[in-house]
Amino acid sequence: MITLGKGKKSVLYIGAHHGMEWITTALLLKFANEYCELFEVNGHISHTSISYLNSTRSIMIIPMLNPDGVEYQINGVKKSNPLYERLIKMNGSEDFSHWQANGRGVDLNHNYDAGFYEYLQNEETQKISNGASTKWCGISPESEPESGLLANFSRFNDDIEMFISFHSQGEEIYYGNNFDPPKENIRIGKMLEKLSGYKLKETEGSASSGGFTDWIVKELKKPAYTVECGKGENPLPLSNLFEIYFKLRRMLFEAPMII
Ligand SMILES: [Zn+2]
Repeated sequence: MITLGKGKKSVLYIGAHHGMEWITTALLLKFANEYCELFEVNGHISHTSISYLNSTRSIMIIPMLNPDGVEYQINGVKKSNPLYERLIKMNGSEDFSHWQANGRGVDLNHNYDAGFYEYLQNEETQKISNGASTKWCGISPESEPESGLLANFSRFNDDIEMFISFHSQGEEIYYGNNFDPPKENIRIGKMLEKLSGYKLKETEGSASSGGFTDWIVKELKKPAYTVECGKGENPLPLSNLFEIYFKLRRMLFEAPMII
């Protein structure tokens, strides 16, 4: 985790819950880089002075929650991997280009305790209960080291006042509407919409079941958002990074000032 700034009020940005969505890691690192460059020269982003932002807010960044999944998606699984046989079985082939889960075949963004058990009991979920490239929620909430650590870190840090989890793709923002979000969730969401040009939307069906954003809203009653970066087919090519960053830049810098 990278922490920028020394303010008490904090926000947490999380990238790459999913293997195919590593462009969100590049996005967050590019942001951290520009933040440091601007801090050194006493710079501004629209009306926000970076030195003021730095002294009054902390921006915590977990750039890649799921490094195993990203590694498999990009480079495939080598025969020398001790989990090779098991991974091939879960994936169904040697082509890992659509791998989203972690190294144990659990989709981390279905592994939190928000609609988890309903999702687990779905017929479709039960079909993939030996692990899969995507959508398998695991046998219990927070069963995975990645999701367990993130959940505990969120739970026990009272200073974190807002959470943004970055995914791709769709140029949309979701706000945990299934779990009776606090009113300020929509108000802040509308501001994020203005800052990014992305559309604030409601989730339908099981897409967000067991998701991190829903869990924060349900359990911690704090503003939390899923930001679907960019547009196209996953994995978005790295050549899309500049355009994605350009659209989200103001939101990344100014969202902490909303809280
Ligand atoms: Zn995702």
